[in-house]
Amino acid sequence: MRVTLMAGKRLRARGAIGAVGTLGALSAIGIAVGITACSSSVDTPAPQVANGTTATLALLETTDIHTNLLSYDYYKLAEDKSLGLERTATLIAAARKEFPNTLLLDDGDTIQGTALADYQAQVAPVDCKTTLGVYKVMNLLKYDAGTIGNHEFNYGLPFLAQVTGSAFDVPNMSPVASQPACAGPNFPLVLSNVLGAKSQQPIFKPYTILERTITATTPDGKTVSAPVKIGVIGFTPPAIMAWDKRWLDGNVYTQGLVESASKYVPEMKAKGAQIIVAMSHGGLDNSTYSPSMENGSYYLSKVAGIDAMLIGHSHQVFPDKNSTVTQFNLPGVDKVKGTVNGVPTVMANFWGKHLGVIKLALNYTNGTWTVDRTSSTAEARSIQNADKSYVAVDPSISQAIAAEHAATINYVKTPIGTTDFRMTTYFADVGDVSAIEIVNQAQAAYTQDYINANLPQYAGIPVLSVSAPFKSGFGGGNDFTDVAQGNVAINNAADLYLYPNTIYAVKVTGADLKAWLETAAKRFNQIDPANTASQALVSTYPGYNFDMITSKDFSYEIDVTQAVGSRIRNLKYQGAAISDTQSFIVATNNYRASGGGNFPGLDGSKTIYASPDASRDVLIAYIKKVQAIKAASNGSDRSWRFTKVATAGPVTFLSAPNLTALAQANGITNVAQIQADDGTGKGLAVYSVDLNQ
Ligand code: MN
Ligand code: MG
Repeated sequence: MRVTLMAGKRLRARGAIGAVGTLGALSAIGIAVGITACSSSVDTPAPQVANGTTATLALLETTDIHTNLLSYDYYKLAEDKSLGLERTATLIAAARKEFPNTLLLDDGDTIQGTALADYQAQVAPVDCKTTLGVYKVMNLLKYDAGTIGNHEFNYGLPFLAQVTGSAFDVPNMSPVASQPACAGPNFPLVLSNVLGAKSQQPIFKPYTILERTITATTPDGKTVSAPVKIGVIGFTPPAIMAWDKRWLDGNVYTQGLVESASKYVPEMKAKGAQIIVAMSHGGLDNSTYSPSMENGSYYLSKVAGIDAMLIGHSHQVFPDKNSTVTQFNLPGVDKVKGTVNGVPTVMANFWGKHLGVIKLALNYTNGTWTVDRTSSTAEARSIQNADKSYVAVDPSISQAIAAEHAATINYVKTPIGTTDFRMTTYFADVGDVSAIEIVNQAQAAYTQDYINANLPQYAGIPVLSVSAPFKSGFGGGNDFTDVAQGNVAINNAADLYLYPNTIYAVKVTGADLKAWLETAAKRFNQIDPANTASQALVSTYPGYNFDMITSKDFSYEIDVTQAVGSRIRNLKYQGAAISDTQSFIVATNNYRASGGGNFPGLDGSKTIYASPDASRDVLIAYIKKVQAIKAASNGSDRSWRFTKVATAGPVTFLSAPNLTALAQANGITNVAQIQADDGTGKGLAVYSVDLNQ
């Protein structure tokens, strides 16, 4: 048997796989411990593992951590125990005690998502020698491998290469040989479906084969150590090409998940992988397969040879017997047991809220390990206990990241202006624009200035802007934008604009604009006015896709009694009905303009300006210019209202509790709190809205 030695990288913490076995094997053949190169190979006799030997291999998944290392909200400058890898770490430690054989794997969307991430990427970029904060913490936790999510591409390829310790063979970077060797994670990152435009090779290693020694049980009940080779392969959503077009176009291209897996799984098998674990940063979608589909994991599960799937990107929990999420109620998906077309699968929510655990039951038969699917189980373990308290933190994490944390807080506290009103999204679903108008004003002004200076062919076409309540309660009562009256600092700008998007401007017709608003109005369920029972107003359609106009020049109604696609009424510009053929320039972001959210016609073809400037920086610059933000001029221009209708029963929505007075102050006079706690433990209250007011 041919064994590749990677001793330096294979020494595990107590409880993880391999330390004892690897050291044992090394001493037995007389090689000094401490080899770090991957190139040494020796021939050793095949170890004797009896047929019928069994073992349990626990795959531990984190996904969509988004650099939430601490239980801390940088926008609120306050602790938030409901998230943070410092708590997931406690679940990881417990699982390592519980199972003799574990692998810790990360499913991507790792390096972006908090002010700390932006600080290290954009404000005071880490130098080549310095390990990025999130990878420093992950090194501490002794991850075995990880993959790359879509958000890893947000800061560009050179930054991604640097912080992952990689060299990319792509056209717009210097030749691989001249790229510096920078500090990255000390575990392998694998990604099979993003390839260099010229090299036609994956920019990361497509897969790795982890060689581990596991504790197993012989047929006669003896505990033994046995070697196993686990192939781990990674996938990211092909939609990155649209979302991060500004970085990726001309440099890389993507392959479909099925195409990549069909190429590499047999190759991994040929190289000796006995178990194949697919780390797929994407959810499940059973619509017709396409190599460019965003959530391809449903079809990935059908590729022969895949023994387990770690999935992500959708920020959901799987398995969950109570899940009402569409993707977990598809044919072939067992949301109780945690299988997709028979393949054990887990999705561990986001921001460190859960740890995914797949217990793979292994049997040794005919000279190799195979997975017994029926005896394997999957679960997602919450950092929240049954009594609603949270597991303790692992104190080593905050120690490791203390300097980065302090620098981030210092950065986000920098004051840039003032506001005479509280800017929030608590009631954005029912018409409050207090946190949205300033974003639209900044985007529209920036775009108008650029057109005036550089694009005379569009002079005279009305410029408007759309934005959405990015934080709208999905993560619970704390997951809302909330900027207090008084000083406005950078953390407030980040609260007003959550994502590291850039400004894009598109040219659309009146018909396009109406279709855009119709799509955004999917935010609402169809309300039956005759129904005497309580009806929930807000659907599962994400708040960040609820694009809205906030301008004195525009007005429209949303008629929630109508079906999706037939709800926008009386769309007017400067008091006159908008015609289907009228032209508008709309300021939005790279995500939306390039196809994010699948808005009709927004596929990149309508983009007239793909700005390199971050939306948040444009907002910060605008606030610095305005200096004194006022409700009358920057927070009260409601372009849309619900079409008035009397309903026989209550129409309800969720928001943080006890905020009726705030709604009143912001001109939302038709809401009342009817239940201070909705019973989900997420800190949300139930409100009613009178659609007839
Ligand atoms: Mn994510
Ligand atoms: Mg993602």
